[in-house]
Amino acid sequence: MRTDALFIGIEVADEAARDAQLAARLEEVCPVDIYGQTPEGDVQIVEGNVDECVLCRLCLDAAPAGAVRVLKLYEDDAEL
Ligand code: SF4
Repeated sequence: MRTDALFIGIEVADEAARDAQLAARLEEVCPVDIYGQTPEGDVQIVEGNVDECVLCRLCLDAAPAGAVRVLKLYEDDAEL
C-alpha cells in the first residue's frame, strides 16, 4: 500500500501490511501517528498525518528491511 501526501509518501509492502505485530510496532514508534491499525490488525496509514513526518527513521528501524519506505516527494521521491 502507498499513501502520498504533498511532501511525503509512505509505502508498506503488502505482506508486511498484513502483519499485526508489525502494525502494532509502527503505531507505537511513529512520533506523529502516521501508522494505525485496522480492526483486523493490518497496518493503516493515517493519511492526514503523513506530511507531519519528521524523518526520524524509527519506522524503518522497526520493520524488516524494505518493508516500509518513506519517500521524499519533494526530492524526486528520494527514499529516506
Ligand atoms: S520516519 Fe519517523 S515520523 Fe516519519 S513515518 Fe517513520 S516513524 Fe513516523
